[in-house]
Amino acid sequence: MIDLVALIDRWAERSSDRIAHVSRDQSLTFGELRERSDALACHLAGHLDRGVPVVVHGHKQPDMLVGFLGCLKAGHPYVPIDAGLPRARIEKIVRHSRAALVLAPGADLDATIALHRGERPDPRARLRAEENVYIMYTSGSTGEPKGVQITLANLAGFVAWARDVHPLGGATRFLNQAPFSFDLSVMDLYLSLTSGGTLFSIDRRMIENPLELRATLAEANVEVWVSTPSFAEMCLADRTFDAEHVPALRCFLFCGETLPPSCVRRLHARFPRARVFNLYGPTEATVAVTSVLVDEAMLNAFASLPLGTPRPDTQLHIVDGEIVIDGPCVSPGYLHDPELSTRVFSGTRYRTGDAGHYEKGELMFGGRLDLQIKLSGYRIELEDIANNLEALPSVERAVVLPLQHAGACEALAAFVVLRTGITATPASLRTELAERVPSYMVPRDIYCRPALPMTVNGKVDRARLAAELPSRV
Ligand code: AMP
Repeated sequence: MIDLVALIDRWAERSSDRIAHVSRDQSLTFGELRERSDALACHLAGHLDRGVPVVVHGHKQPDMLVGFLGCLKAGHPYVPIDAGLPRARIEKIVRHSRAALVLAPGADLDATIALHRGERPDPRARLRAEENVYIMYTSGSTGEPKGVQITLANLAGFVAWARDVHPLGGATRFLNQAPFSFDLSVMDLYLSLTSGGTLFSIDRRMIENPLELRATLAEANVEVWVSTPSFAEMCLADRTFDAEHVPALRCFLFCGETLPPSCVRRLHARFPRARVFNLYGPTEATVAVTSVLVDEAMLNAFASLPLGTPRPDTQLHIVDGEIVIDGPCVSPGYLHDPELSTRVFSGTRYRTGDAGHYEKGELMFGGRLDLQIKLSGYRIELEDIANNLEALPSVERAVVLPLQHAGACEALAAFVVLRTGITATPASLRTELAERVPSYMVPRDIYCRPALPMTVNGKVDRARLAAELPSRV
């Protein structure tokens, strides 16, 4: 197993002034990352029982990385929570994970680190292979987020494979688009840190401001790009997103949702020297388990893109049309939820809920077998939203449907039955819901109805409701 802490810390020894992370106007050198994470680990070791989860709450600040590494060094799994989540959802996660501490970049963390500056943590305190390194919360169909446990061995196996099969070739600049609370970020974070590279973070405000995003991308001039396809498509809307303005870019790693061939074609045209990879995998199997180089031949041979070759230590089976992953990448299960875990995990096997089939010898993605969707790269259980709507005092019943365009979900719609005697508007419902779920889970359209159509076996007739939705998104 590769030693992640050693691989990262050796950059502090070799060239401590090397920049590890840039986020807006903040940056962190490998030397500072080591000093600060060592000091934090000493603090944790002196105050918490080893093994208790620690929440690291924030957005893209360099001290998020200090929090993660401090936990690794002190033997605590970290629970990354993005600052964009509503308070109620954060509290649920803190409670559910039984975290002993919430770390957040800022004055308190600075003061804690200052107290232990120069101290070195006991290397024996570090996480062991079979212990959880992080717990990532993802949308759960019950309305409660579920915590995917990832062990240090899961993570090390992923990083070793991803370094091996992709042409990083001494790259020194990596893009970080996904928030640290999504496992896609694990790919850029650990590929960059273990290679002594600089990770350039895109933050929420940049995504909302195209000119700022353009300037940041040009300035960062990354060599390795890690993002959801949705984000790349957003960038492609800007004409200047090309090899002239980002000349170093030579490797795109996409994961998390279907990669449209049209997106790859446009990238090939704009970045003739860059290679584009499609990776596939759920959080439960540690970021990604397959990868494939998408070249011209592949684009010509397939109408939708294959998922690629599995990690050598991992098998993908198709069982009754569903992709089942089997290997050392598979999580030990959902935290504190043995019942849900036994439904989808068994030993080193995980049932993904993704439909799969083979075409010309290649594994293909056939959509979901349940009500999980991807919207702008975010993984959402539609029932999570419906359950949170039904938890509002004014709502009796709710159903949430995707608004599809060209096979992809472009927005969400909800049908709601209000409690008798209650007056609520779509706008007031959206505001109330936004206090319970992340903003990307708030349906764009909400329709209030006196009742919902039922099928003959007494379930809500989703197909009939879907037929009522506008055909133009
Ligand atoms: P997440 O846990 O957020 O990474 O989401 C995992 C899910 O995203 C998978 O189960 C798939 O449904 C979908 N997914 C991930 N990668 C791909 C891909 N390359 N093509 C199609 N769907 C993907």
